[in-house]
Amino acid sequence: MSRADGLVVQKYGGTSISNPDKVIAVAERVKRRLATVKRLVVVVSAMGDSTDELVALAQKVSRQPRGREMDLLLASGEQVAVSTLSLALQDRGVDAISLTAAQCGIRTDGVFNLARIRSIDTRRIVGELDAGRVVIITGFQGITESDEITTLGRGGSDVTGAAVAAALGASVCEICTDVAGVLSADPRLVVGARKWSEISYEEAIELASSGAKVLHPRAAEICMSYEIPIHVRSSFTDESGTWIRSGGSIMEQAEVVGVTSDKEIAKITLLNVADRPGTAAQLFEELAEKQIGIRLIIQSASSESRARITFIVDEQFVDGAVEVVEKWKTSQLASDVLVERDVAKISIIGSRLASTPGLAARMFKVLAREGINIDCISSSEMKVACVIASRHLERAVKTVHNEFFHTQAQPVAG
Ligand code: ADP
Ligand code: ASP
Ligand code: MG
Repeated sequence: MSRADGLVVQKYGGTSISNPDKVIAVAERVKRRLATVKRLVVVVSAMGDSTDELVALAQKVSRQPRGREMDLLLASGEQVAVSTLSLALQDRGVDAISLTAAQCGIRTDGVFNLARIRSIDTRRIVGELDAGRVVIITGFQGITESDEITTLGRGGSDVTGAAVAAALGASVCEICTDVAGVLSADPRLVVGARKWSEISYEEAIELASSGAKVLHPRAAEICMSYEIPIHVRSSFTDESGTWIRSGGSIMEQAEVVGVTSDKEIAKITLLNVADRPGTAAQLFEELAEKQIGIRLIIQSASSESRARITFIVDEQFVDGAVEVVEKWKTSQLASDVLVERDVAKISIIGSRLASTPGLAARMFKVLAREGINIDCISSSEMKVACVIASRHLERAVKTVHNEFFHTQAQPVAG
């Protein structure tokens, strides 16, 4: 795919357009950006908390809102946002057009609530750009081959931004948000977290998939495959944020690039399963059939022929996972199952973790000093993750961040 020089994709998150004044501020920013780029595509999330409000509305009328109807409902938030921004741009003399995912050919698979983009037919977008317009596209949604509306999972507008940037061969995908860039910790938890000027795609993927909400991990994966640079930056200022691209220099310097946390998880344990070939395969096949993603797996032998399998799932998958493991209990494949929802995960991320001895030990030591017990540990080349009781999470993040970044971490008001 040839890189379209001067074609920029900007994505604005919900907090950046949470009220009419902010929509106007974004419209003015988009107008200013047009002075420096030839072709501009803007992907927008729903305004403020409107997706949460739509979820709450659905929960008031249905015990388990999901599937097709839920996606049709959730997708409406982005439609409000694009048309509003487009009106504000037109009012300021900018020739803008808003398009839904259906109107601009963003095709997904048929997995409602968690769809994946399969292709983008860029003809309509390119036609509008050729006509000199700014194209404003709904994030977070797509359309199946049979014309059903789907959504891409929470935070999915980043994925739309990345996929549109990849399909158009943009020179950059700008993720415009309410923070200055990718920081060494969530600034809502840690005051004085460090802003990186550049990190690698791999570091961004690890940070995002272990809880740094600033970017969706799939957005970083898509941009990595198509070699589209990402620039995570503030929606409110013109200052440079964090560049994510190949060959970044920070990779060679920082041992730890971030301390991340994830509260929305649960831990599930099956006791006394058969310790023989095929047990784990059967369990995780059954979970996969229900589209349940697994975060972490630990198997340990409890006696000669019996084993214990523990795994961590995102909160959204807990009910589905419980259905599977309860069947294992009733059919006596496991003597018991334990479901713990009051757990959380804290991770340190860095591309030099594996090659720098002692980093994991430092993390464990400061947690111990705080009297925080570690329930499970997992590690990979770029990550050490600990599962702890969720009530200790904020303290754990502050203390671990302080160990690696020497900040006096304090809570942010509000
Ligand atoms: P948007 O509405 O723009 O998509 P999100 O709320 O999804 O914004 O993501 C931005 C938020 O991500 C920030 O307000 C911040 O609290 C949070 N965040 C978590 N971890 C990090 C991190 N390491 N760096 C920057 N922001 C982070
Ligand atoms: N509006 C959607 C959400 O709240 C998508 C997004 O914000 O990226 O999850
Ligand atoms: Mg987001």
